[in-house]
Amino acid sequence: MVVRVPDIPSEGLSVTEVDALGSVYRDPAWRLLAVRLRLERDGLDVFVTGELRATVSQACGRCLEPSPAEVTAAVDVRLVPRPATADNVELAADDLDVDFYAEDELDVNALIEAETTLALPMKPLCREGCLGLCPVCGGNRNVVQCACPQRPPDPRLTALKDLAARLPH
Ligand SMILES: [Zn+2]
Ligand SMILES: [Zn+2]
Repeated sequence: MVVRVPDIPSEGLSVTEVDALGSVYRDPAWRLLAVRLRLERDGLDVFVTGELRATVSQACGRCLEPSPAEVTAAVDVRLVPRPATADNVELAADDLDVDFYAEDELDVNALIEAETTLALPMKPLCREGCLGLCPVCGGNRNVVQCACPQRPPDPRLTALKDLAARLPH
């Protein structure tokens, strides 16, 4: 859904229909569940506030299996027209959540995708206490119990020990 900034009425614009947005995410495993956004214009600035809820899928940080999760993101962004050159952007210290729009057009779907990405868990886990991959054989220890030693001997360390043994005491 692309909104033309000059078309945003003075009383603001609400985006609440998930179906009206079409496909929001490039990743087909991600799905927008609910959205409640308010677009308000102040001169050339557009303020977008509200909340969204989505199901996302990331690789588990330990075993790399896809791990679906539900995220809720609070949205509070100010969008300003993209300047012609980057170096005349002057952002105040409190303008952390500033984004740009170009050619009078605001891509709501892209904004939703960006906000969802920001809300992703930093260390996704497929389950509490995921056992991860075996560092020796690479097997998924949630699925197979391999017989690999827990700590493989470091070949560099072994070489050092051999060297130490051969040194005169
Ligand atoms: Zn896992
Ligand atoms: Zn193993």
